[in-house]
Amino acid sequence: MLCPVCENPLVVVERDNVELDWCPVCNGFWFDADEWKLIGVEDEKYNPFTYEAVKVNEKGRQCPICDKMMDKIKIGETILDRCPNFHGLWFDKNELSRFVNDANSNEINTKTVNFLGEVFSIKK
Ligand SMILES: [Zn+2]
Ligand SMILES: [Zn+2]
Repeated sequence: MLCPVCENPLVVVERDNVELDWCPVCNGFWFDADEWKLIGVEDEKYNPFTYEAVKVNEKGRQCPICDKMMDKIKIGETILDRCPNFHGLWFDKNELSRFVNDANSNEINTKTVNFLGEVFSIKK
């Protein structure tokens, strides 16, 4: 699988049986939809798969699985790329930490926040 941003091969990172695809070049992350479910986003407010696409002034990217142009979705202040066929989510490195901080400050989903925080050593 290739990085949707810089087209370098993504590397599989595993923790607690959840696999992520990480780009060692631009430090973005791809979550397959199933993997995202495994980290337990129970609160619909923070479930990126229920969000409507928004128009933003940000470059479009293609899903690394189906090559379709991904939708932009906005959660809090974070803008993510989501495959229109719901294959998964792409976080730029700064988007991921923003999402974690956002979710953390809203006390939305501790399990998710802790998981992401630990895996990526994001300072909370
Ligand atoms: Zn990349
Ligand atoms: Zn796709």
